[in-house]
Amino acid sequence: MPIMFAETGCDFCRKYWTHPFLENRDEIIKLLADPNWERQARLYQCNKCGAYWDNPNGAYPEGLTKEEVEQFYGIKNS
Ligand SMILES: [Zn+2]
Repeated sequence: MPIMFAETGCDFCRKYWTHPFLENRDEIIKLLADPNWERQARLYQCNKCGAYWDNPNGAYPEGLTKEEVEQFYGIKNS
């Protein structure tokens, strides 16, 4: 199950999600993989805390576990 917004990441990356026009956004929330078109979502990772964020088209971003990152985006974690 994806992780609810409030339980994902750190104050820093949550602030960037809730304030879309903050400067340096691309440096804090990095796009990590090609979009998953089946899920219509993009995978991001917080540069500060390392949390994985799934950003669905038109819906609230949610946290993903490492297992979900591998399952949905094919990214292996050590
Ligand atoms: Zn963070």
